[in-house]
Order: sequence, then structure tokens, then C-alpha cells
Amino acid sequence: MNVSRGLRPEKGLTSALRLAFFLFPFSFFLPPAAAGPAGTRFTFTEPHMGTRFRIILYAPDEAAAKEAARDAFTRIAELDGIMSDYRPASELMRLCQKAGGQPVRVGEDLFVVLSRAQEVSRLSAGAFDVTVGPVVRLWRRARKTQQLPDPEKLARARALVGYRNVHLDARARTVQLVKPDMLLDLGGIAKGYAADAALAVLKRHGIAQALVAAGGDIALGAAPPGKEGWTVAIAPLGEPGGKPKRYLLLHDAAVSTSGDAEQHVEIDGKRYSHIIDPRTGMALVGRASVTVLGPNGLTVDPLTKVVSVLGPQRGLRIIDGLQGVSALVVRQADKGVQTFASKRFPKTRNGDSNTKP
Ligand code: ADP
Ligand code: MG
Repeated sequence: MNVSRGLRPEKGLTSALRLAFFLFPFSFFLPPAAAGPAGTRFTFTEPHMGTRFRIILYAPDEAAAKEAARDAFTRIAELDGIMSDYRPASELMRLCQKAGGQPVRVGEDLFVVLSRAQEVSRLSAGAFDVTVGPVVRLWRRARKTQQLPDPEKLARARALVGYRNVHLDARARTVQLVKPDMLLDLGGIAKGYAADAALAVLKRHGIAQALVAAGGDIALGAAPPGKEGWTVAIAPLGEPGGKPKRYLLLHDAAVSTSGDAEQHVEIDGKRYSHIIDPRTGMALVGRASVTVLGPNGLTVDPLTKVVSVLGPQRGLRIIDGLQGVSALVVRQADKGVQTFASKRFPKTRNGDSNTKP
């Protein structure tokens, strides 16, 4: 897994993305099992990071498949133990307990994820910002109580948000959180990284034809035997289980979808998403789904928040500026469903023409 190179600005046209597997934001429909000399298809699922991780792989036999999947899930569990904001003993929460103090030396995984998070924050002028933790906590409570956060509490939480108050030192591999009570939330980036890491474990086991799906964050390895890629279906807006309209065929790539299909709350007739605008502290309102394609999960997972927060015009302009990355926005407007695609978003299989913003 090459995660240290960072996001590269677009130089010329790339067409790295071919097609993949059935992606629904929250459910998957898979083609029938295939077997043959190239390997047999195996599927494994386990709950981690508050979602269901699914591994699909082709292996010579069941023992090899099980061993590889077990090691991949172990790696995912390890990353959950590092990056969870639900576990007080996670490395992330121990770092947050030192907020307002001296720099803290952290492990490589946490440093890689925080470095990318900072890069995406700078790129998006703070539309993606992992320091949004105190605000996310208030909105999580709002989802439970069905009541909007108290404006005073929200103002106090907002004052703690700001990626510029996270200081990274790559040489010493330290992180300093400048303000006391700052709280990091990696919910918008850790799953993409974990899917990449699990795929890398499978590769070390000699299994390249594999896919790891962490809810809506999917990392794809080599194409299944005899196939051009994995078929990924993008679900229609707000119709879980509805017939997908768009199919992509992908390999050696990643795709992430952020939508409001599952995690939202409706208060006084308004639908509030689990995605927050860190600059205002408000949850996004309305129905939209953003799909980002790119080289790996660490790249595409945070970018779905960038496009969600900035909207199709500004968001897709940022996407167009990144090498090997493309995106699709589907949103509910008064006039009906609107679709916006970035310049390099691949043509969908049924020839559905994409509307340019
Ligand atoms: P999932 O993969 O679980 O569907 P997403 O990738 O859509 O989640 O990310 C949403 C999560 O990211 C939220 O639950 C919250 O923890 C965090 N988050 C919300 N808004 C932002 C933001 N603007 N910047 C960074 N993280 C965010
Ligand atoms: Mg995600």
C-alpha cells in the first residue's frame, strides 16, 4: 500500500478506473459464485468500526481463503483499536486526552491517517476536518433525542474545531493538539484506510483478486478470474434495495459513497445528515449522495465529505484537480433528482448520460 505519496494534482488525462462490484451505499448485490482453475470465490463478513466489513476473494482452497481473511480482519480490528473515538483507551483518544499539552509521539498508522486528513483539510479549506469531533458528538446526541443541539453548546464545540490547531511533525512522528478539549473524529477517513490495509494483508497472502467493503467504503484489488473488473452498482437516491441505475466495472481502485440513506435525523421536517460543515457546525440538510472513485480508500473516503460539504460546483472542481480521482453527486432538488459528474467520472454501463455541473 503506497499511502505516503499524498494527493497528486492532475497533470493529464488518466483512465485508470475501469469497472467493479455492486456498490450500494449500504447493501451489496453480488454476481453468482464462480469457480475454476483460477480460484474459488469466498465471502467473509465481520462487524468492525460500527459497520459490516465484507471480504470477497478468490483463493485456491478454503483453508488459504480463511487464513487470509482471518489475518485481514485482525488488521482491521487493530486499526479500530487505534482510531476509534468510542474506546477511551484507543491511541486516538489517548492523544486527545493530551490536547492543550506537548506533542505526542504516535504510531505509523495514526500518523499516516492524520497526515492525509490534514492534506485534505488544506485542499478543501476545512470542508473536511477531523477536529470536528466536539460538534459530531452533539449531532450524534441530536440523532438519539430528535432535538437540535443547544446553540450555546454548539458555539462552544465549534470554537474547538480547526485543523490548523493540529501540528504534525513527520520526522519525530508527533502530533500536537493545540487547544485543550479538542477532539478528533476519524469516522470520515478510517474505514477507507482500513479497507486498503485489509486488501494489503490479503495480497501478502498471495491473494490479489479480492475486494474489501467497509459499508460504503470499498477497496478493490485485481479483477476476478476471467473478468474485466468488479461490477459496482451505485444505488438510486433514498431507495434502499431499489434498482440501481449506474454500474461501474473497477479493479485496483477504491470507491466510497457518503449518503444520507442510513445516518440521518429528521427534526421539524428537515433531514439532517451525519456529515457536518465544520465551518458552521451545522449538519448538512437535504438528500444527497456522493460517490468518489480513486486509487485507494484513504484517498476517496475523506473526499466524499469535501464534495458533500462544498456542493457539486466547488467540490467537483477540486476533484477535477486531482490525478486519478473522479466523483458523482446525486441530489434531491425541488425539481427532481439532479446528477453531477466530475470530468473523469467513467461512463456508466447503461449509457446514462451524466449531467455536467
Ligand atoms: P460512513 O463511511 O460511516 O458512511 P462517512 O464516510 O460518510 O461515514 O463519514 C461520515 C462521518 O465522518 C461522520 O459520522 C463523522 O464521524 C465524520 N464527519 C462528518 N462530517 C465531517 C467533516 N466535514 N469532516 C471530517 N469528518 C466528518
Ligand atoms: Mg466513509
